[in-house]
Amino acid sequence: MIDVTLESVSKRFARAGDTAAVDDVDIRIAAGEFFTLLGPSGCGKTTTLRMVAGFYFPTSGRIRFGEEDVTHRPPNKRDTGMVFQNYALFPHMTVAQNVAYGLKIRKVGRAESKRRVDEALGQVHLAGYGERRIDQLSGGQQQRVALARALVIRPRTLLLDEPLSNLDAKLREETRVEIRRIQKESGTTAIYVTHDQAEAMAMSDRIAVMESGRVQQIGAPQEIYHRPANAFVARFIGRSNVLTLPVAAAGPETVTVALPGGEQVTVAAPADHGLRESGTALVSVRPEHIGLTSATEAGALTGRVTELEFTGMSTNLLVDVAGEPVQVTAIDVPAGLVAGDQVGLRLPRERMWVVRP
Ligand code: ATP
Repeated sequence: MIDVTLESVSKRFARAGDTAAVDDVDIRIAAGEFFTLLGPSGCGKTTTLRMVAGFYFPTSGRIRFGEEDVTHRPPNKRDTGMVFQNYALFPHMTVAQNVAYGLKIRKVGRAESKRRVDEALGQVHLAGYGERRIDQLSGGQQQRVALARALVIRPRTLLLDEPLSNLDAKLREETRVEIRRIQKESGTTAIYVTHDQAEAMAMSDRIAVMESGRVQQIGAPQEIYHRPANAFVARFIGRSNVLTLPVAAAGPETVTVALPGGEQVTVAAPADHGLRESGTALVSVRPEHIGLTSATEAGALTGRVTELEFTGMSTNLLVDVAGEPVQVTAIDVPAGLVAGDQVGLRLPRERMWVVRP
């Protein structure tokens, strides 16, 4: 088990001009942690992972495994196990031969190699599949072979780049549980890359949300969901309303804002919010935390339903409140509610949170 540190790591590609693909990234990953780099396409997560793997060297900054500086060490000298989106298995070899590959390169003896291959196949629940050909396996099984191949060398870090992208939705959910179990059982420090926020939330101890090469926030899934640092994180993780509201008063860790109907509410804010009376605050509130009531209920905001989408488990509504579109997710909606109807909304002040722009 080993911790992994990225200190002020930047990467500029010669062809890409002056913009940094990865821009001054500081991350400390604890030994045994399942850590995810999450963000939209092009945000720099793969480039960051490739620098940890040694496929790219940083333009500036340092990468350490424990106390060891590995910044400019080639991939084969880092003891990392890699798992890719396309599995990268050898189709003409058996499962056992694929898994044994890294051991062969490391000149591990036959008996020891067989023992470790069996152990790794057991770990990924593929005991007895050693003699199968790769093309006789399902996509999910192939991905588990790729995991076994990465784990068999007992890597110091396990690096996974969108390993579930090629699987269908159901298999993806099953396999993410498996990967998490295998990582915790093996105790290997894992760095996982995905653009899928649900996957990141379900699997990770902590997540770094990235955008435009920069880390926007690092935290546990609950923290990132309930306390997004800025408007980008609030909108990227799940769905969120980010309301622009006038500030009536500002305290050390609270801000009092005026809702569209005029009512003032005091909501939690980060200590360094920097807001003042008479400015405007961005306030995040999740659609599922807003209560749907009748337009006549006292104290409720009133608005007009502009869109209504039934998803089975719940209904997504878009409600126009004094010109501001507000997303609402409701488990129960009144029978016969249609677009154009007036509704009341209850905004839960304890669930509202001030975000930075
Ligand atoms: P995706 O999910 O689409 O893979 P990503 O978040 O992993 O995206 P990166 O692949 O790290 O993003 O790319 C970050 C930025 O760096 C992008 O603007 C990309 O075009 C650029 N980039 C990546 N690799 C290279 C390269 N080898 N040469 C030049 N530019 C590159």
